[in-house]
Amino acid sequence: TAASGGGLVAYADSASESAPEPSQDAPKKKVLVLGTGWAGTSFVKNLDCSQYEVKVISPRNYFAFTPLLPSVTSGTVEPRSIVEPIRRMFEKKNKDVTFYEAECFKIDASKKTVHCRSAVGTNLDGNGDFMLDYDYLVVALGATVNTFNTPGVLEHCKFLKEVEDAQKIRESVIDCFEKASLPNISEEKKRKTLHFVVIGGGPTGVEFAAELHDFLVEDLVKLYPAIQKFVKITIIQSGEHILNTFDKRIAAFAEAKFQRDGIEVATGFRVVKVSDDLITMKSKSVGEEVSVPYGMAIWSAGTGTRPVIMDFMQQIGQTNRRALATNEWLRVRECEGVYAIGDCATVSQRKIMDDISMVFKLADKDNSGTLTLKEINDVLEDVCIRYPQVELYMKSMHMLDIADLIKGAIGDSHKESMVVDIEEFKKALSHVDSQVKSAPATAQVAAQQGHYLAECFNKMDKCKEHPEGPLRMTGGSGHHFFRPFRYKHFGQFAPLGGEQVAAELPGDWVSMGHSTQWLWYSVYASKQVSWRTRMLVVSDWTRRFIFGRDSSR
Ligand code: FAD
Ligand code: MG
Ligand code: MG
Ligand code: MG
Ligand code: MG
Repeated sequence: TAASGGGLVAYADSASESAPEPSQDAPKKKVLVLGTGWAGTSFVKNLDCSQYEVKVISPRNYFAFTPLLPSVTSGTVEPRSIVEPIRRMFEKKNKDVTFYEAECFKIDASKKTVHCRSAVGTNLDGNGDFMLDYDYLVVALGATVNTFNTPGVLEHCKFLKEVEDAQKIRESVIDCFEKASLPNISEEKKRKTLHFVVIGGGPTGVEFAAELHDFLVEDLVKLYPAIQKFVKITIIQSGEHILNTFDKRIAAFAEAKFQRDGIEVATGFRVVKVSDDLITMKSKSVGEEVSVPYGMAIWSAGTGTRPVIMDFMQQIGQTNRRALATNEWLRVRECEGVYAIGDCATVSQRKIMDDISMVFKLADKDNSGTLTLKEINDVLEDVCIRYPQVELYMKSMHMLDIADLIKGAIGDSHKESMVVDIEEFKKALSHVDSQVKSAPATAQVAAQQGHYLAECFNKMDKCKEHPEGPLRMTGGSGHHFFRPFRYKHFGQFAPLGGEQVAAELPGDWVSMGHSTQWLWYSVYASKQVSWRTRMLVVSDWTRRFIFGRDSSR
C-alpha cells in the first residue's frame, strides 16, 4: 500500500490524505473524446465531467449496442431498439459535456489539435470544417473492416459493422427472395440467388448465419414455399474450425448444429476474389481454386485500421501496426496527453526481462546481491500487478507459488533456505514473457477500458507526480499512482440459432443449449444502456415469439 513505502505499486485510492481542492479560477483542462462507441461512451459516463471541459466528437449522434446487430439483420430486433441518442445518454452531464456530430479526419499531436468535418452542416468558414485543441485526447475510434485487398470485396460484399449495414442486409435478403420468386426464372438462377454466403467464421459471421437460418426456417419458408428448396447458407472459414477464439467444445457443438441445420461450413478455404455472381476461394491444403455462384455475400473476415488512426500512427512513428500501441495505463506510447481505448488500440505489455535487473534490485532490500525467498515473496504481489504474465505463467505451469518457479531454475533445493543470484533469477523468469496476452477486440474490453481510464482521470490530480510509476519510483511513501489496466473476462456467448446458445463462462465453464438461451436473453437485456432500449429490445423479442419476424422491406 501507499503507506508502507518502498513497494513497487501503491494505489491512488488507498491514499489517506485528501487531494488539495482545485482552485476555483484555474481554467479546466480540456478533454477531447473521439468516438461514441463502447469505449468512448463508457469513458464519458464514468468521468467526473465537472473537473474538466469535455468535448465529444462522433459522426453518429447515437450509441449502438453492437452485440444485437446480427438480430437486426433478420428483424428479430428493430434498429431503433438498439441505439441510444448520445445527448440523452449524457443528459445529466449536458452542461459539462459538449457533443459535436462530426468526423475527425486528422489528429495533430505536435500542436495538440484535431481537425473535424461535419457531415450535416456548414459554418462561417463556408464548409463544415473546424479545429479543436485539447490538453488530453481520448481516442476511441473503433476499427473498420479489413478486406485484405481481396479483389471485388468492397464492391460486392455486405459488411456488418454499423446499424445501417444491418438494415441493408435485411433488405437485400428479402430482395433475393422476391427476385427468386419472379416468373420465368431458371432453377439454376434461383439456386444462385438464394445462396447466402458468410465469409469469416468468427463470432459475428457465425451469429449472422444462425440468425439468417432462423429467419429462413421460421418465417420466410412459410411465406415463400415455392422456392424453399433452393435456399442455402454457406460459411467460408480459412481456419480449421469456426469460432476458433472459443473453447473447442463450443466450436464442435456449433459445427454439429450447423450440419444438422444444413448450413454448409467450408473450412480451410480462403476467399481470393469476388465478382458480381461468383465467389472464388482457394483451398489452403491443396491449393486448388473453386468458384461458387451466390446471391448475397457478407464479409466478416477481419478488422482493419481507420485511415485517421493510420495517419496518426505514421506521425508518431508507430508504423506497420494494426492498432495504436499504448502502455498499460492506456496512454499512447511516446505521446504526451493522448490516450487510446477500445478496438483502435492495443496495450503493449512491458516484458519483465527488460526490467529484470531493476526488479532484482528493488527486491534485494538488504543489498546482499542475492534474494531470499522472503525477499521475493515481499515484492511478488506488486510484480504480478505490473507484469500479469508472471501470474499467468505460474498458473499455466500449475505452480502453486514462486518457490516452484525458482526451484525449476536452480535445481532442487530446500524451499525455506533458498537463495538466488541475479543469473538464477533471470533464468527462473526467462519464459514468463511468453504468456503476454493482448485483450480481444470486444465490447467488454472497450467498456472496461473506458471505465478504467475515467477513474484515472477522476484521480488525476492526486497522482500527478507519479501517474504510472511503479518501477520508476523507488521507496518513499505518500506517492500515488494508478494500478495498470487489467481486463476481467466475464465470458462470451455464441448464439447459434433455434433458441440455442453456447456460452463460455469464467473458470473453464461451458454451457450449451436451450437453457443458455435464457441466460443470453437476461444478460443482453440487463446490459442495455437505458430502460428505454431495454423495454424496446424485450418487446421486440416478445413480438417475434408471438407474431414472427416482419418480412416486408
Ligand atoms: P466502436 O464501438 O466501433 O465505436 C467507434 C466510434 O467512433 C463510433 O461512435 C463511430 O461512430 C466513431 N467514429 C468512427 N470514425 C470516426 C471519426 N473519423 N471521427 C470521430 N468519430 C468516429 N463485442 C462483444 O463483446 N460481444 C458481442 O456480442 C459483440 N458482437 C458484435 C457484433 C457485431 C456485428 C459487431 C460489428 C461487433 C460486435 N462486438 C461484440 C465487438 C464490439 O462491438 C467492439 O469491440 C466495440 O464496438 C469496440 O468499441 P469501440 O468504442 O472501440 O469502437
Ligand atoms: Mg468508442
Ligand atoms: Mg459501438
Ligand atoms: Mg483494443
Ligand atoms: Mg538480499
